[in-house]
Amino acid sequence: MVGIVVVSHSRALARAAVELAQEMTPGRPVPVAVAAGLDENTLGTDAVAIAGAIGEVDGDAGVVVLMDLGSAVLSAEMALEFLEDEARGRVLLCSAPLVEGLVAAVVTAAGGAGRAEVAAEARNGLAGKQSQLDDTVADPLPVVSEPAAQWSTARVRVTPAHGLHARPAARLVAELRAVAATVELRNATTDSAWVSAASLSGITTLGLRSGHDMEARATGEQARSALARLTALAGRNFDETSSAAVRPEPVNTVSTVGTPLPAAPGIAVGPVRHANPGPTLASYTPSPPENVQKHSPQLQKQALEAALAATRIQIVELRERLAHQVPADEAAIFDAHLALLDDPALLGTTLTGIEAGQLAAQAWVSAALQAAEQLERLDDEYLAARGADVRAVGDQVLAELLPPSAATQNHSAPGILVVEDLTPGQAAALDPDVTPAVITAYGSPSGHAAILTRARGIAAIVAAGTDVLDLPDGTTVALDGTTGELVISPSPEVVADFTARAETARVAGESALRSAHQPALTRDGFRILVGANASTPAEATAARAMGADLIGLVRTEFLFLGRETAPGVDEQESAYLDLADAFGGERITLRTLDVGGDKPLSYVPLPAEANPFLGTRGLRLGLRRTDLLTDQLRAIVRTARQTPVSVMFPMVSTLDELLTARRLLNDVMAGEGTPLGLQVGIMVEVPAAALKSAALAPYVDFFSIGTNDLTQYTLAAERGNEAVAALGDPFDPAVLHLVRATVNGAAGQAEVAVCGEFAADVRAGALLAGLGVTELSVNPRSVPQIKQTIRQQDLGEVRESAAQALLSASAQEVRESLRRRS
Ligand code: PEP
Ligand code: MG
Repeated sequence: MVGIVVVSHSRALARAAVELAQEMTPGRPVPVAVAAGLDENTLGTDAVAIAGAIGEVDGDAGVVVLMDLGSAVLSAEMALEFLEDEARGRVLLCSAPLVEGLVAAVVTAAGGAGRAEVAAEARNGLAGKQSQLDDTVADPLPVVSEPAAQWSTARVRVTPAHGLHARPAARLVAELRAVAATVELRNATTDSAWVSAASLSGITTLGLRSGHDMEARATGEQARSALARLTALAGRNFDETSSAAVRPEPVNTVSTVGTPLPAAPGIAVGPVRHANPGPTLASYTPSPPENVQKHSPQLQKQALEAALAATRIQIVELRERLAHQVPADEAAIFDAHLALLDDPALLGTTLTGIEAGQLAAQAWVSAALQAAEQLERLDDEYLAARGADVRAVGDQVLAELLPPSAATQNHSAPGILVVEDLTPGQAAALDPDVTPAVITAYGSPSGHAAILTRARGIAAIVAAGTDVLDLPDGTTVALDGTTGELVISPSPEVVADFTARAETARVAGESALRSAHQPALTRDGFRILVGANASTPAEATAARAMGADLIGLVRTEFLFLGRETAPGVDEQESAYLDLADAFGGERITLRTLDVGGDKPLSYVPLPAEANPFLGTRGLRLGLRRTDLLTDQLRAIVRTARQTPVSVMFPMVSTLDELLTARRLLNDVMAGEGTPLGLQVGIMVEVPAAALKSAALAPYVDFFSIGTNDLTQYTLAAERGNEAVAALGDPFDPAVLHLVRATVNGAAGQAEVAVCGEFAADVRAGALLAGLGVTELSVNPRSVPQIKQTIRQQDLGEVRESAAQALLSASAQEVRESLRRRS
C-alpha cells in the first residue's frame, strides 16, 4: 500500500488532518507519518524529520508527500536529498491542498491504488467543494468510453441524511475498488456527467443529496457483481449509522442483463418464478413423520457432523470465491461463521437436545435460536448484530440437515425459475413440467447442476448475474439455452422469433430421431458407439427411446444424495437392476460413488478442505471409506451376475489407487462369484491419469474420459465458478492432447470413451472420433443428433482435422479449424 507523509508547520494541524482522513477508511489502515512542527507547540518544518517520516512509511508501493505551504514545500524538496537514489525514486511530492488532498489520498491508497493515482486523486481533492460552491469549473474527470451495449446499469437512491458526503462516498470507493470492473456514476436527478467511481473527488462533484437518484454503469468481468455490491451498499444506507438514516429502498436496480452462458438447450418463454426461500431457523417446524419416528442419537450426531462439515465446505468455498473481491476485513465475516460451526456452547446445547431424543434438526434449531436471541437482547450494538450471524449459519446448517426436496421450486406456479445457484440435489428435484427452464445468477455450464438440467430437458442459462434476482415475480422472459440469449419482457416479435426457433429445433430433432435406433457408422464404415449418461430408470427409459447403444455413465451418487444414510447393498442392487431393466437389459456402466467437490454428502462428513475439488473426491473417498465402496461393489457385482454391467472408478490419479480398487473388487468377487462379462474401467479426469494411460491400461478394459473434470484440472479453472467458466473450455488444445495421450497409452489394449459433456457438442463428436475415441456417452436427448453427426463423417477426414486441431494454439483456433473443414 502507498505510504503517505504529512508535512505541516503545525503538529496539531497535521494530526487532526490525519485523524479526519483515517475516519474515512475504518479497518483499512493506511501507513501515514507526520513530520510537522519543530516540537509540540513550535511552528516550523524540518527536512531531516521529513526524510525520517518518509523512511517510516516507505515500501514497494512508494510514498506520496503532502505539505501545507511555503517552507514546508522547500523542506520536503530538501528531504529528498537525504534519501538514497532508489528510495528517492519511490517518493512523489504532491501539490494537493493538505486537508482535502489527504482525505482523497488516504481513501485512494486504502483501495490499493499506485502512488501516481493516489497523488492524482489528492490533487483533485478540491473538485467536490468547487463544484458545490460553483466557483470554478472542475476539469471533467476521465471516464472510459465503452459502447453502450457493454454497460450494465443500476440506479439507487441516496439516503444518508447529508447526502453522499465524504465518508459514504469513501465507503463506496472502497466497496468497488477490489472488483474487476470499471464503474462510473452520475447524479440522475440533476442529470450530471459521468465520473469514475474510483475517484472520491469525482463522486463529490456529483452533488448527490439525500433523496437523489444515483445511476451507475459498469463494464468488465465483474460488472454485475460491482453493481450488486453498490446496490447492497445503498441498501445499507452506505453504512452510515446516523439516527437520521432512513432504511432505503433501492429503485429499479435492473436495466440491462449481461451475457449469460448457455447451459442446457431449450427455448422457453414464460413468467419468472423465484425460488421459495430455503428453510430458516424461524420457520422450521418438524414434519409429522419426524415427530413420531425414533432415531438413534448416534445417527443424529452423525447427521449433525455431516451437516456441519458440508456447511464448512460451503463457507470456505464462498470465502475463496470472494477473496479477491472484498476487503480482508469484510471477508473476516466468513471466519466468524466458521468459528460458529465449532462453538462449544452451541454444539453442547445441540448435543444435549439430541441425547434427550430430539432429531438433529430440532436440537440444532432450538440451540441456534437460543444463542441468537441471547445475543440480540444485548445492548451492545455490535454483539447484537452477531445474532444475525448465528441465524445465517443456523439456516445453512439446517438446510443441510433437511432433505433438499423441492426447496427451490415453486410448485404452485409454473414458470422459469430464477435462483442464485442450484445444487445438484435441487436440480434433481425440479419438475420439468413445472419448471421448463432455469436462470441462475451464478454457476457454470460444467457444474453438476447444469448437467442435471440438460439431462432432464430443462433449458438453462447460468452466470446471468445478480441483476436477474431482482426481476419481479411474473415478469415475462424469453430464453434460449443453446445460445445463452435472455430477453426480459420480450416484444411480440421476439416471442415469435423464439417460438419459430423452437419449432426448427423440433423438426431437426424429429428427423434425427427417425434413425436413432440405427448404429452410428461413419461414411467409411467405422462404428462409433453412442451411449447415454443416465442415472435413473426414467432417464434409462429415455435413453432407450433415443436409441442409445449402451448406458455409458451412471452417476450412482444420485442414489446417495438427498437422504440421511447410505443405501444398503440390497437397495443399491435393486436400483441398478431397475435401471438395467428400464434400458431393456442392455449394458450399463456403473460409476462408483463420486462425491466431494460440488457434491457433498450429508452423512459422509468430509474434512474441511480449502480446495475440495483437489481433495478427497471420487475414488479417494472410496478408498478412505472402504465400507461404502465395498458395499457398492458388492451391489454392482450382484447386478453384473444378472445383466451386462461395466464398472468404473472416478478420479483416479495413480496406479496404486487403481490396484487397490481392483483388489477390493477381487475380494468382493471372491465372495459373490465372478460375473461373466463384467468390464472394469476408470474415468480419466485427472491429467496424470491421461498421461499415464500406458501404465494403467493393462489393468482396465476401458477408459472413459470425463472431460468436465479433465478440463477443469487441465486449465486450473474450477467448474461451477462463473469467473473462470470461459477459461474451462474443452476445445482447448491442451485437453485434446490429453485425449490423444489417453488413446495412445491405451494402444489397443483398452477402449477409450468420452462421457463428459464435451461429447454432446456436435462439433466435438467428430473431433473425438478423429482422435481415436470409439465411444461417446451423452445425455439421452443428444443421442439421435450425435449419431446423425457421426454418420456424416469420414473417419479418414476427421483424423486429419483432429491432427490439425492438435496443432492449434487456442480453443478459438480449434473451433475455427473445425469450421473451415466442415
Ligand atoms: C466428467 O468429469 O466429465 C464426468 C463425466 O464426471 P462428472 O461430471 O460426474 O464429474
Ligand atoms: Mg467427473
